[in-house]
Amino acid sequence: MSHSSPGMPETVTIYEVGPRDGLQNESALVPVDTKVEFIERLVAAGLPIVEATSFVHPRWVPQLADAAEVVARLDLAGTVPLPVLVPNERGLDRALDAGCSHVAVFASATETFAAKNLNSTLDGQFEAFEPTMRRALEAGLDVRAYISMCFGDPWEGEVPIDQVVATGRRLLDLGASQLSLGDTIGVGTAGHVGALLEAFAGEGVVVDRLAMHFHDTYGQALANTFAALQHGVTTFDASAGGLGGCPYAHSATGNLATEDLVWMLDGLGIGHGVDLQALVATSTWMADHLAKPPASAVVRALSGNFSG
Ligand code: MG
Repeated sequence: MSHSSPGMPETVTIYEVGPRDGLQNESALVPVDTKVEFIERLVAAGLPIVEATSFVHPRWVPQLADAAEVVARLDLAGTVPLPVLVPNERGLDRALDAGCSHVAVFASATETFAAKNLNSTLDGQFEAFEPTMRRALEAGLDVRAYISMCFGDPWEGEVPIDQVVATGRRLLDLGASQLSLGDTIGVGTAGHVGALLEAFAGEGVVVDRLAMHFHDTYGQALANTFAALQHGVTTFDASAGGLGGCPYAHSATGNLATEDLVWMLDGLGIGHGVDLQALVATSTWMADHLAKPPASAVVRALSGNFSG
């Protein structure tokens, strides 16, 4: 049963990250055929955008070493964009060779994570993004920018809001079409979400340029999503079945599950275009391939009603 929600958006865009962010954080190596079928099933279930893979060096993410093979088998000319992550110019070259039209770069809001994940500094990371983003834009590609550790950082604790806004501002100035603000370790709470979004608004960043990327590690992802909806956010990242544990905590729960998000949006009467039954069937099928139960509470609640 849905109930109208005054002040909330009428529709939102769910940015599906399961094939990339989900699978890169699962220990199992999934065959190319299964990845391609997974992406095609997500598109068929109505997801309006599905991040397909990452052109990061296979040494860092062996789970996605087959990125070129996967992309070669996808319908890149279809109506649903299938973005790929590009960590640097070499990754961009591979994305251009593959014919990708949408790419994403991955930034850090903190000094320590920039050092550990990007082998750079908070300030220095932009030097690497500049040629990558400029060349992508010159080639006519859409460039999304992820920002990790927007709320808390496992080494630095709570992350100053102005540091996150300054990072986002620089990425927008470099030409990012959208920022995905990541709560990478899932410690954010609803009040913090509101404060961060108000700080971006205070710097003149319109809310349409912002997506939220919540993790459910501490059980806060839907509460945080609700707070972001109240602030007018209309793009939410989510991972089918809740794929992808949290690499920074001993928890099976990382990414917000797409099904959990869809269930809440349905209750609020907010449009999203996703067929929940088809999505649950897809996540149940993928859970069988990974030989582990889905992290999503909604998938676990509903999957007995469907055959995978
Ligand atoms: Mg994630």
